[in-house]
Amino acid sequence: MWQKLIYYLTNPSGTDYLLKKHGEKTAIRAGSLSSKWQGYAETAGYNMSSMPVAYAHSSVKKIFCRQAFKSFKFIVSITQTIRVFMGGLQIKKQSRKYDAVIVGSGAGGGMATYVLANAGLKVCLLEAGPMFDPKTDSCQLRNPWESPRRGASTKYRPFGDFDGCYWGWEIDGEPYTQSGEQKWEWWRARMLGGRTNHWGRISLRFGPKDFKRKSIDGLGEDWPIGYEDIKPYYDKIDRLLGVFGTNEGLDNDPDGIFLPPPKPRLHELFIKKAATSIGVPVIPSRLSILTKQINNERGQCFYCAQCGRSCKVYGDFSSSSCLVIPALKTGNVDLITNAMAREVLTNKEGLATGVSYVSKNDMQEYQVEGRTVILAASACESARLLLNSKSQRYPNGLANSSNVVGKYLHDSTGADMGGIIPELFDRKRYNEDGVGGMHVYSPWWLDNKKLDFPRGYHIEYGGGFGMPLYGFNWGIENLNGTYKIKGKQKEAGGYGTSLKEDYRYFFGSHVGMAGRGEAIAREDNYCEIDPSVVDKYGIPVLRFHTKYSDYEIKQAKHMKETFSEILHAMGAVITWGGDDGPHNNYGLHNPGNIIHEAGTVRMGNDPKRSPLNKWSQAHDCKNLFCVDGGPFVSQADKNITWTILALSMRTSEYIVDEMKKQSI
Ligand SMILES: Cc1cc2nc3c(=O)[nH]c(=O)nc-3n(C[C@H](O)[C@H](O)[C@H](O)COP(=O)(O)OP(=O)(O)OC[C@H]3O[C@@H](n4cnc5c(N)ncnc54)[C@H](O)[C@@H]3O)c2cc1C
Ligand code: SF4
Repeated sequence: MWQKLIYYLTNPSGTDYLLKKHGEKTAIRAGSLSSKWQGYAETAGYNMSSMPVAYAHSSVKKIFCRQAFKSFKFIVSITQTIRVFMGGLQIKKQSRKYDAVIVGSGAGGGMATYVLANAGLKVCLLEAGPMFDPKTDSCQLRNPWESPRRGASTKYRPFGDFDGCYWGWEIDGEPYTQSGEQKWEWWRARMLGGRTNHWGRISLRFGPKDFKRKSIDGLGEDWPIGYEDIKPYYDKIDRLLGVFGTNEGLDNDPDGIFLPPPKPRLHELFIKKAATSIGVPVIPSRLSILTKQINNERGQCFYCAQCGRSCKVYGDFSSSSCLVIPALKTGNVDLITNAMAREVLTNKEGLATGVSYVSKNDMQEYQVEGRTVILAASACESARLLLNSKSQRYPNGLANSSNVVGKYLHDSTGADMGGIIPELFDRKRYNEDGVGGMHVYSPWWLDNKKLDFPRGYHIEYGGGFGMPLYGFNWGIENLNGTYKIKGKQKEAGGYGTSLKEDYRYFFGSHVGMAGRGEAIAREDNYCEIDPSVVDKYGIPVLRFHTKYSDYEIKQAKHMKETFSEILHAMGAVITWGGDDGPHNNYGLHNPGNIIHEAGTVRMGNDPKRSPLNKWSQAHDCKNLFCVDGGPFVSQADKNITWTILALSMRTSEYIVDEMKKQSI
């Protein structure tokens, strides 16, 4: 058999025949060689590692350069040969046709699944990660000593061993590349519920001005919708999912339907007093955590402060616990986990017909058919899927006649600072756990017309007693030797009883603050398909090109000045983030680092300037939708997830209506 295989591989006329017969689709498929098949080829004496597999993936026309041609023919021939001789790598089609195929089960996909399934539609939900139910899988109440690493982070769980999110900045076998001045940092979850198993639960509505920023300052673009279009959906999700907070009557931070907020803790009282004294408002935070029970399916928060690990009683919002698992109970959802979507399939009329995916279980390729396709794989991943969905009709990628898919990529800005409050050294011990997040925050309070940067930021606060884990203790290890402990000056470092005494002395005296602001969405910040790199499933990866403007840098400077003033007003000593300045853009985090990716498939009324219309429906392909952060026109000075959820609900209800009318 190997002799025949080698003969086949080295016979170009046979390859040409196959290429003609099977065309571009075969070529694309050829890139799906799994490591097992590559192993066979290597056994036969071929060095597969030097093969530019990606060439087979991008448009065949584009890559038909002479040098690649040989390798390309080789890959086509080996795939075909393996098919001929071993019967493998056949694409498996499901016989069932669904009303909707949804890709991704995070905030956007979870909401779409919930709405469509409850409306009686038959849904296939494709999720690249494994099943996750916080009730059984969360590490919520584990102690640090139960971890072999004492809770320290790993690549698999960057926020510590017990964190609720699988994967993060890096995923084995799934690279992404860079070509911009600033590195884009891309956080990717791979699990049911996506990033919402960890997220901070900060649930802020965008305000009326946030949808019309261009009309206010001439920068960026206005949304094709206004606050009045989305308000009914914010109201519905407040009731459905639960969020605590207070109605403050603020101009651009709309009131909601709030559960009672928890009381501020000691460090938060210090913050409130100090910030208010310098004119920065501090109000109860708005987090989607149940301070009161709202239904029989979910328990009330019992204040363990571990929301980042996901909640076993479903006391906080995760897409897994609050949307997908209830949707599964309708019997209308087929959930396929470990399914890595590769591309959206289309027909001659240009309509979406389904999705092809690689199963991580057997590395085979499958196809599912649907009357509609809804992308919710996260803003960048959805752009990647569209750009990889090339065909004769859509040579530029699907829904991309505007050439805008991947562009206008943006994240919240971020800069931080922290310190210790000597007044709180050697604090009396008591349980002040609270919810897993801040009890107070500062919404944006200034008028940008009077400042040298166009958009605002809000401030998130931390501090107090918190469960120490290895590497998550506010830099306490740097403090001894710097301050007297119970009147005695000691040397830095140490061990045993003396070190424990020092740590106990400093524990609970820390306070930290983080600015999270709006960056302008710009066309020259984008992601695109890297023509020469594929992931371990043979799917071409994203290459990022991002750079901050002066606006964001000036905003970070303002954040730092504000934090420094607040810390001084409370008598704190700055212990980190105080040395940032012009040399490092005032500590401005790399784009992507704040994990609010948005804008890559933006909505707009003009099909020449936006891939989606105001319903997050593709202008070019009416049965294709995107419901993650992709449709965002701008980010606002708020965290984006409450708006992803509201928009996804709005789009999903629209899909139900349109299907009833048989318009899609
Ligand atoms: C540490 C942290 C803190 C955060 N804090 C907050 C906060 O306080 N407030 C806030 O508003 N936001 C916060 N966020 C951001 C929030 O989690 C995201 O905005 C939200 O989860 C985005 O939802 P999504 O549906 O777009 O994507 P995700 O939640 O990331 O879900 C995408 C899903 O798609 C799946 N997927 C990806 N690619 C494929 C593929 N090719 N095929 C099949 N499935 C695929 C993934 O496995 C994942 O399950 C935080 C995020 C993190 C990580
Ligand atoms: S703080 Fe409350 S909501 Fe969060 S994990 Fe603990 S019990 Fe659940």
